[in-house]
Amino acid sequence: MPELPEVEALTAFLREHAVGHVVTRVDLAAVQAIKTFDPPLSALGGLELTGVARHGKFLDLDVSGLHLVVHLARAGWLHWRTGLPTAPPKPGKGPLAVRVHLDQSHGPPPASGGVGFDLTEQGTRKGLAVYVVRSPAEVPGIARLGPDALAVDRETFVALLAGRSGQLKGALTDQTLLAGIGNAYSDEILHAARLSPFKMADKLTDDEALRLHDAMRATLTEALERQVGQRAATMKGEKRSGLQVHARTGLPCPVCGDTVREVSFADTSLQYCPTCQTGGKPLADRRMSKLLR
Ligand SMILES: [Zn+2]
Repeated sequence: MPELPEVEALTAFLREHAVGHVVTRVDLAAVQAIKTFDPPLSALGGLELTGVARHGKFLDLDVSGLHLVVHLARAGWLHWRTGLPTAPPKPGKGPLAVRVHLDQSHGPPPASGGVGFDLTEQGTRKGLAVYVVRSPAEVPGIARLGPDALAVDRETFVALLAGRSGQLKGALTDQTLLAGIGNAYSDEILHAARLSPFKMADKLTDDEALRLHDAMRATLTEALERQVGQRAATMKGEKRSGLQVHARTGLPCPVCGDTVREVSFADTSLQYCPTCQTGGKPLADRRMSKLLR
């Protein structure tokens, strides 16, 4: 799932490549992706894209005062295209959800097709969401966001955790507490901070909370530096190459060499290193215990 660094990098990419262009047409290929009906998607046609912003994991395209807001969910992505077909796409086929055509006011027109971008989503579980609103705060998921994970200072961060009951993994990924972190970077941040994902957020010592804040900033900043400047097409691969524990079950921890383990849940899983994070003790895993029974 695209998280803060990926969405921030997409934001930077679009600022450079798309701002200043006029939206000529928006094609909707996956009807379930659009969550609003007034203003309609077609209202964006003929208006200039004037700015791009990020709110947590939401991408916000300012189209002359109307906002096209995108949440990429688990398997969504934005593909910059220079050879867009002019014929409207067939709805309900393949990963394409929304196609945005832009005018070619900058530079010479490409040999064939138009410029713009596709919002796509792989897999059968569809979660990609698109909103057309007059203010981004009209999107419920944005209205509920806590402070941005890259903007929150140490004091605020310590206070947020102290007021939170429940495990660290859940706290870091709760967008209403802290905006921008998902399953992958929470694994990475907890590993960098040498903290168990199951540790209680309100039971951290000041030292541990500050360590977590430092790890969060370092992890997100490093990921962002890897991503910015990448072409939108190659960003996803870059995310994977920088990971230490997330999605690396069974592989050696790059820090200590112990085997990265996982805890699985109904529809997700987390990865961690026992030596770095849990005093060498493996955490209980539902699926593992079922196999051993
Ligand atoms: Zn380790």
